Amino acid sequence: MTRVTFPEKYDDLVFLIAGAAGFVPGHVSEFFLNKGATVIGIDNFITGSRENIELLSKYDKFKFYEANIYEGLPDLTNQKVDFILNLASPASPIDFEIIPIEIMRTNSEGSLALLELAKVKGARFLEASTSEVYGDPEIHPQVETYFGNVNTLGPRAPYDESKRFAEAMTMSFHRKYGVDTRIVRIFNTYGPRMRANDGRVIPNFINQALRGEDITIYGDGSQTRSFCFVTDLVNAIHNVLFSHDVTPFNIGNPDEYSVKDCAEIIVKALNSTSKIVYMPLPQDDPKRRRPNIDKLQAVCDYTPEVSFVEGLRQTTEFFKKGL
Ligand code: UDP
Repeated sequence: MTRVTFPEKYDDLVFLIAGAAGFVPGHVSEFFLNKGATVIGIDNFITGSRENIELLSKYDKFKFYEANIYEGLPDLTNQKVDFILNLASPASPIDFEIIPIEIMRTNSEGSLALLELAKVKGARFLEASTSEVYGDPEIHPQVETYFGNVNTLGPRAPYDESKRFAEAMTMSFHRKYGVDTRIVRIFNTYGPRMRANDGRVIPNFINQALRGEDITIYGDGSQTRSFCFVTDLVNAIHNVLFSHDVTPFNIGNPDEYSVKDCAEIIVKALNSTSKIVYMPLPQDDPKRRRPNIDKLQAVCDYTPEVSFVEGLRQTTEFFKKGL
């Protein structure tokens, strides 16, 4: 396998980051700005936050366009673009039910618009796909060659199926037009600047523990997830972007916890008085999830560095500021 090769310097490089006001894309934008690159952010604020854009705006080389990628991109006619990172999509299960059509249009029409732009600009294109393409997986840990087990009619389908479509569209642009593409399949990620109310397990449990409210475990809590701290995820995205393989890479941290363990770890770490309560399991909730990251580790020196305890500490500090 050819190893990752990074640019010698980033100062002259231009990164277009769709979804820049969101949690992961905000961190990715900051990473490339800190390397001295120009970052052009696009977001329509459907789930992203204006605070994230304010944070990025302190960098001189950050430009921002408020736009919806499936309703028309900003005019970039005279703008050099070297890399397009399609990180624009609401990604929380509560979003799947509230804004399903917007999610499907973002990942289909929006991805198409950005791929067309990559073709025109001769830019490398990275599609942020997801572990959700594996649905409720029947093999464990998940490897990239597994085709998945997705319910096309269920409540998670708007996200899962549109991301699968985006992967197919990305590969088609590569095969048909020779666009230089990469695909990452992002597993559960957490860290500062997540939305406190995005409904996901870590923001929910930390905020419940901080407020002394009941910790809401869905189902019996035996389902598992593998949690990656956001800086480790950004590092993985950086590696894949500069890899030489157009086929998908799983990215995440294989450190796997049951939801019940996760609740207990958070209650203990925060010294919280909250008690654990059990609520119904949402439909199609995956039972086990853990990335096999051998493929990524075969092309670079990637190892997740931030432990769950340390990551939770930093995330808790962030949420405390919002209380
Ligand atoms: N979950 C839970 N309580 C909550 C929020 C989520 O038990 O308050 C569970 C959820 O049912 C799932 C896991 O935690 O099994 C991870 O959910 P999340 O929404 O964070 O992400 P997912 O991996 O399902 O996309």
